[in-house]
Amino acid sequence: MLPSVLPARPALSDTTTTRKQLETSQSLAKVTTPQETAIFLCAVQDCHKLFPSRDRLMQHRKKEHGSDEDSNIITWNE
Ligand SMILES: [Zn+2]
Repeated sequence: MLPSVLPARPALSDTTTTRKQLETSQSLAKVTTPQETAIFLCAVQDCHKLFPSRDRLMQHRKKEHGSDEDSNIITWNE
């Protein structure tokens, strides 16, 4: 299972993976799209937890931050 907070690091292009490795990996893992895998990030300072829906994020916001303010949300699904 993924941790709820992921460390940031620079994105680099992959120059070492071969086509064969890529094809092999596709039988082990599912390739998905932003539409199929919704991600909502709580962008309140130092939080950055991930949620699968805006509703879940808002439940977290109320519980952990004591607020129902709906700014500071990072998503590509809206
Ligand atoms: Zn939060």
